Amino acid sequence: MTDTARHPAIETRGLTKFYSKTRGIEDVDLAVEPGEIFGFIGPNGAGKSTTIRTLLSLLRPTRGEGRIFGLDIVRDSKAIKRRVGYLPAEVNYYDRLRVGELLAYSARFYGVEDGGRTRELAERFNVDLERDFSDLSLGNKKKVAVLAALLHSPELLILDEPTGGLDPLVQARLTETLREENARGTTVFYSSHVLSEVQKICGRVAILKGGRVVGVEEISSLRRKQLKRVRLSLAKPPEPGAFDIDGVHDLEVKDRDCRFLFDGRPGDLLALLAGMPVTDVTLEEPDLEEIFLHFYREGGEG
Ligand code: ADP
Repeated sequence: MTDTARHPAIETRGLTKFYSKTRGIEDVDLAVEPGEIFGFIGPNGAGKSTTIRTLLSLLRPTRGEGRIFGLDIVRDSKAIKRRVGYLPAEVNYYDRLRVGELLAYSARFYGVEDGGRTRELAERFNVDLERDFSDLSLGNKKKVAVLAALLHSPELLILDEPTGGLDPLVQARLTETLREENARGTTVFYSSHVLSEVQKICGRVAILKGGRVVGVEEISSLRRKQLKRVRLSLAKPPEPGAFDIDGVHDLEVKDRDCRFLFDGRPGDLLALLAGMPVTDVTLEEPDLEEIFLHFYREGGEG
């Protein structure tokens, strides 16, 4: 247990995985502290599953290294598996088992004797332990996988797109459960392609694009980024280059209507507008999704 306090929950340096010539991830550096709920966000194909599967030794890294609670992801993968709960993006179990048997099998693997925890979780997520796994809908299969990840009360939960296939009520139940587990000290690594989902629960996020980490941000500082969404109506279409000042991004002009994001000095924006035949103007705080996309695009350019 002292390990948990001394070492980062997850630490990678230059972690790289190629599928023959196809890049899965490249030079991924991560540091997740014990007790964090850490978001791992990026669009489909960014490399989230590859990172997770490499951390769990389901894939062998091409180069680079990773540690979980100080244990080497390649050499110590067995020891790591016992301390981690993993919810895969796609759920695949032996089909011909009843749900209760399947979970008992999983519990035995982790050396958990107590069926009480299984029953408590099954009740919470409304999982019927008597059904055949193969008869379940995709959403119900995913719920069984959620239980399998949670039932040994792991020190680290790694969730790959956890809400995919879950209905909103179950998603909310999962979020609540993760908060409770976290309050008891469980570190959570939460991958998703939807920022709004991650922002509800995570303190920090790493942003992944094209197999690389392009930024690590605190959710609160993402919110604080001084970004404004500007909408203008002009008396006539703007001259070409009229918006050529520092801080203007994502300019869209449709005849006399213009919109853009602005992260420059407010005085520069007012000076720009003062020189234009403005008939209407709206300035608003973009939502976090927009801030993120902006940041993400900028971050991805280098
Ligand atoms: P994400 O989980 O973010 O959707 P993945 O880790 O699944 O992204 O994929 C990252 C990249 O690796 C993608 O370009 C994907 O096509 C490629 N990739 C993933 N799995 C394989 C595989 N088994 N064989 C070849 N390429 C793969």
